Amino acid sequence: SILHRASFTTSAARLDQLPPPTTAEVCFVGRSNCGKSSAINVLTNQRRLAFSSKTPGRTRLINMFGIPDPLDPQAALGYLVDLPGYGYAAIAKEAREEWAEVLGGYLRSRESLAGVVLLIDIRRGVTDLDRRLANWLAPTQIPVLVLLTKADKLPYGQRTKAVFAVRKELAEIGALNAIPFSATQRIGIEDAAAHIENWISP
Ligand code: GDP
Repeated sequence: SILHRASFTTSAARLDQLPPPTTAEVCFVGRSNCGKSSAINVLTNQRRLAFSSKTPGRTRLINMFGIPDPLDPQAALGYLVDLPGYGYAAIAKEAREEWAEVLGGYLRSRESLAGVVLLIDIRRGVTDLDRRLANWLAPTQIPVLVLLTKADKLPYGQRTKAVFAVRKELAEIGALNAIPFSATQRIGIEDAAAHIENWISP
């Protein structure tokens, strides 16, 4: 996968620190602890490219990982963009609002945004914040792939039920595709990678 060639490019605390929006970007969003960094790491086949929300520091930032163009390794074919996780109760209201501003601002204004990977813990299902995000994304032209993370934590029957329940709920919001995903048991990785590659390099 071309995603395996991703490498850390830059971090930004504010939107105006991002590089110019000239190349396709696929962003990763989800609640804190939803398995976002594990997903990025397994999709890029790297152990520590993205940092867990349990790691202080870089997780409040927007982190960009460049994917080199195979025909011109100096140039980026596209970027994976790790956005700050939301819904973490234990942080101050002020910081939460700042995060919401970064997340909302990025999604609203980023012209190079080619697709959104929305990560939802399969056992938790669609939470209020996930629903708000999905509701906001549905009428935009931006394609969305929902990864139902930590799918290995449910036995097969329950997993299938949970996937159908989420698909049903999302169908009421718009055309949002949802697939089971597990970083540890390697479920859905090829499928997710194919979507992301296609957004970056159609
Ligand atoms: P983030 O905060 O959204 O980046 O989430 P992390 O990737 O750091 O994951 C949060 C916790 O969930 C960690 O303890 C991970 O080990 C665990 N986790 C992440 N992905 C999986 C998975 O696919 N299966 C299982 N069983 N645990 C996972």
